[in-house]
Amino acid sequence: MPPRRRYSSTASPATRARYARRRQRRLSRVDNDLTDQQWFEILDVWEGCAYCGETGPALQRDCVQPISRGGRYTVENVVPACASCNASKHNSEVTGWMRRKKLDEGAFLLRHATFLRTLRGAGRPGVPELPGEADDV
Ligand SMILES: [Zn+2]
Repeated sequence: MPPRRRYSSTASPATRARYARRRQRRLSRVDNDLTDQQWFEILDVWEGCAYCGETGPALQRDCVQPISRGGRYTVENVVPACASCNASKHNSEVTGWMRRKKLDEGAFLLRHATFLRTLRGAGRPGVPELPGEADDV
């Protein structure tokens, strides 16, 4: 097996800075429109970590579809996650990651779909389906 290429050890500081700026631009292009009000509503609905059910004050905003996979920082794509789930999931595709962690991905997808339906019912038509969600169930 060939050794993994290690960009960090060979890239010059200037190159790394260029990559960092590119990532910044990519992030600013996606519409990150989650408001504090929406975040509190999300917390209300889930009542704990969306993945493992852990409750506590330290729940973090996690993108179901990671930003690196085209996800956005919006009310449709953000769920509460405990620090442990958030760190573990990182950039993983959500259903694959939940299966690996032996978490109940069926229950999660159902709750999330119900939440999205509630959003649409509350007068937000045209909310897109999460890409990659349906064909992986
Ligand atoms: Zn968790």
